[in-house]
Amino acid sequence: MRAVVVGAGIGGLVAARLLQRAGLEVVVLEAHTYPGGLAGDFWHRGFRFPVEPYPEGFPLLEVLLPRGRLLRPVGRDREREAQGEFFGPQVLPFWRWQGERAERLKALAPRLPWPPEGEELAALFRLLPGLFPLLPDLFRRVSRLAPPDSDFRLFLQAQLLIAAQTEDPYALYAALALDLPHLGPVRVPGGVGALARALAEGLEVRYRARATRLLLRGGRAHRVEVAYGGRRRGEKEVLRGDFFLLNVPPEHLLGLPERVPKDAWGAFALYGVLPFRAAPPYYRQNARERPFAFLSLFPEGERTLFSLSLHTPLALWEDLEGEAYRALKARWQERALALGEALLPGLREVEPLFAATPRTYRRFAGRAWVGGYPQTHPFRFPRVRLLANVLRVGEGVFPGQSLPAAALSGLRAARLLLRALGLGGECELAPGASPGEPTYW
Ligand SMILES: Cc1cc2nc3c(=O)[nH]c(=O)nc-3n(C[C@H](O)[C@H](O)[C@H](O)COP(=O)(O)OP(=O)(O)OC[C@H]3O[C@@H](n4cnc5c(N)ncnc54)[C@H](O)[C@@H]3O)c2cc1C
Repeated sequence: MRAVVVGAGIGGLVAARLLQRAGLEVVVLEAHTYPGGLAGDFWHRGFRFPVEPYPEGFPLLEVLLPRGRLLRPVGRDREREAQGEFFGPQVLPFWRWQGERAERLKALAPRLPWPPEGEELAALFRLLPGLFPLLPDLFRRVSRLAPPDSDFRLFLQAQLLIAAQTEDPYALYAALALDLPHLGPVRVPGGVGALARALAEGLEVRYRARATRLLLRGGRAHRVEVAYGGRRRGEKEVLRGDFFLLNVPPEHLLGLPERVPKDAWGAFALYGVLPFRAAPPYYRQNARERPFAFLSLFPEGERTLFSLSLHTPLALWEDLEGEAYRALKARWQERALALGEALLPGLREVEPLFAATPRTYRRFAGRAWVGGYPQTHPFRFPRVRLLANVLRVGEGVFPGQSLPAAALSGLRAARLLLRALGLGGECELAPGASPGEPTYW
């Protein structure tokens, strides 16, 4: 039985590995020349950029606020201490609520089929007793719980925009998203590109192979059209498959108009090299003014690679051509460098090597919209199963953006498929689950 995975992003690769491990024949089609998608390495003028590695240790992140610089250290007690010192004791009840909710949700998550498919609603109902204390936090926004301190609110808005694509997500999501520094962050040697390459190893990945259309018959997909690039430019192929996992916007392959939520975001990012070795914290955010700017630093010998990213409204970039596009790009670059300079003096002196706009992401990853559905309420997710044998994977399928979300969506799609094939018993038991109980993560 053959599964065709379209796209070698982290979501597609995780799904592909799991399906291959369960004995399926797997072919991965990737439009580019390397794996990892938005989280791969890319090369520009001889420099290699590892995207988004998590650094080890303390202090993890620094947030620049009107009142000063606030550190987010690894470890809840350390964070509470830092928060109490910076904002005063009135924020501590918020952090107690956050820690308690995050723990409860983590304990429940392995048994939570999310996003649920029709037949799984029964499993959700069985979990209701455990979910009961959490219900209010599914339906109220986190701003309702935040103490009325303007800097604290800015801190929350800036941190949550990254993790939730909205400054004011529903409270339960916010509780878990704010827990990220305490979930064991690590630095991946070689960056997440190395992780993508490791996942791709041993898989049949066809690079420069762009899927252009899914062919349907009787409510199922049976073939995918592929257009090759590089040395095979101009060559086309129709590939048979029993299952299809789409790590790309499905509309393109189904000949449908793209569906982008009105509040979806694009990204503007600068990449460059600083001629010195930067000291920790390696992650810094400017929350003093909007657009919030996020700086990631990757020291390498006596220099430091950096990426500086900002959320940008997609509508700003739509239909811009030639001079108008270049002018907007130059304005955003100038703004980004000024915001970055406040995070790391010297940054503005450096000529960035590369600037990415929503147009770049559309060309590079096949979509201008990045980050998934803003988590304004818990039911904002797309269907995982599009047709009986076509599933969706990647960012935006599992709630929220980020590598963990993309990886979990791959796990989710693979397990749904394996269960449908009667091969679902392979899953390892999650911590806290009893034998015989279904686990989803
Ligand atoms: C500026 C920026 C900063 C970020 N920072 C962080 C961070 O600090 N931490 C974090 O965890 N996450 C971060 N993210 C998010 C993270 O990168 C993504 O959530 C994740 O990489 C998405 O993975 P994916 O599997 O959904 O898809 P993608 O990475 O989009 O992979 C899709 C793949 O499909 C390929 N493809 C597209 N169309 C076709 C086609 N027709 N045929 C064949 N192949 C095709 C693409 O080339 C690509 O390789 C950031 C994202 C951006 C844009």
